[in-house]
Amino acid sequence: MIEKYIRDVPDFPKAGILFKDITPLLQSPEGLRASIQGLADAVDPGTYDLVVGIESRGFIFGTALAHHLGKGFVPIRKPGKLPWKTASESYVLEYGTDTIEIHVDAFEPGPRTLIVDDLLATGGTAEAALKLVRRVGGEPVACAFVIELGFLGGAAKLDVPTHALMKV
Ligand code: AMP
Repeated sequence: MIEKYIRDVPDFPKAGILFKDITPLLQSPEGLRASIQGLADAVDPGTYDLVVGIESRGFIFGTALAHHLGKGFVPIRKPGKLPWKTASESYVLEYGTDTIEIHVDAFEPGPRTLIVDDLLATGGTAEAALKLVRRVGGEPVACAFVIELGFLGGAAKLDVPTHALMKV
């Protein structure tokens, strides 16, 4: 049911990319509720203690999910944004590389975590997030996405169960 709220934007942010715009989903009370409830239903909340969200659209869904379930939230951010001591992980993009960071004391004393982002494409970002969470003592139990671009095969890179509310 969330499919109708995802807008396809061709050639954004560059030629050849079909961008999945989630803003109509966020704008719709019904769509937003369905996406947060869908994420809550996708992974048994009893199996994790904290939600980790990846900047920046992972913050929207991850924080709402954490609040909905009465759990805490940990941000994974782009470089140079977190003010405290960080661990970082770089990964390969289609062109060039990218880096994400987390606070080194994010998980004391090492809770079970659910990693959330809006969309799984090649899986590079989520794979780096899994490494980061483990490096600072967290235990990832699953990854959950609103959208998965299945034809890119990203889920195969992730060594925890992967869930998506909508698969393209
Ligand atoms: P990847 O590391 O290739 O799995 O890319 C995932 C990240 O890039 C997520 O944070 C997405 O928000 C973003 N992303 C990649 N491809 C798209 C797309 N076609 N539409 C919207 N966001 C995308």
